[in-house]
Amino acid sequence: MKFTKVSSDKEFDLSRFPKGEISKFWLHIINNGLGEPIRVPILVARGKKDGPVLGLNAALHGNELNGINVIQRLFDHLNNNDDINGTVIGILVANVPGVLLGQRRFNDDFDLNRQAPGSETGIASSVYINRLIERVIKHFDYFLDLHTTGYGKQNCWHIRADLKDKETRNLALLQNPEAILHSTPDEQTVRGYASSLGIKSLTLELKDPSIFQPDVVNDAMVGIWNVMHHLNMVSSPVSCTLEDTWLVEGSTWMRSNAGGILTVFPELLSHVEKGEKIAEVRNIFGELSREFFAPSSGMVLAKNVNPIAQTGSAILNLAHSIEKVPCRITP
Ligand SMILES: [Zn+2]
Repeated sequence: MKFTKVSSDKEFDLSRFPKGEISKFWLHIINNGLGEPIRVPILVARGKKDGPVLGLNAALHGNELNGINVIQRLFDHLNNNDDINGTVIGILVANVPGVLLGQRRFNDDFDLNRQAPGSETGIASSVYINRLIERVIKHFDYFLDLHTTGYGKQNCWHIRADLKDKETRNLALLQNPEAILHSTPDEQTVRGYASSLGIKSLTLELKDPSIFQPDVVNDAMVGIWNVMHHLNMVSSPVSCTLEDTWLVEGSTWMRSNAGGILTVFPELLSHVEKGEKIAEVRNIFGELSREFFAPSSGMVLAKNVNPIAQTGSAILNLAHSIEKVPCRITP
């Protein structure tokens, strides 16, 4: 499939994108305070044959960047592929003001991922997410929302999905992440609202914020290609990046009830035993003020790496009810 010239419009009419080609498109979504357009960059690969619409969304939180690189790499791969069945839509930057400011939230200081479905008569972030959903995301049959952890934290490569839904569970397993966490999304998240519309929706947690990490970008791209193979969109064989994935029934963020200089000891994906020391807080003179111990055995999904930790800061996300499952090449 070859890239075509760039176009721009306020509307997003899928039938106008040429079949057998990859279109580069700017969606004029709102105007800034000088009356100039704020435009969302989108790639659309439309196959010659009909098939499902797979949608990818990156940087809904403006400092979560790995997904941008995943979509770029995926469309480069499509560029080298003959054709596909169906359509792949990649929203390269969902939160344009947030990315330009290097911040998680929209430029009205609200979280776009807590505003869904938004409203045409709401505040700026509400109008913005409403138009993105109504014009683009509603076209999706399958939706992969690409995130990372937040500022000052580290994430393992994991997927959040409703594992009670068989097809959604299968789509998660096909991507072969380090861990898959069962999570039923809040409807105010874009994934939650999309799910309520019947769109099979998953959140990909692609490690860390504010950087491109080639390892997880590559692994996610392989996983998404597996999903496309499963949906009969491409014919090339699926592959796995890991032998096993951890299935996680639930997880709990532990928090510090003391403020100070925080050190969290366990590494990502390591197993801690109940009662094991996992963190400590010292005052600015280096004196120990609080120690933290694991309340139960479990595995570390994410951890705080910012030493400056006010009371209430996150320590780590402890996964419980975990099970190791083999890579699913032919689920
Ligand atoms: Zn996020």
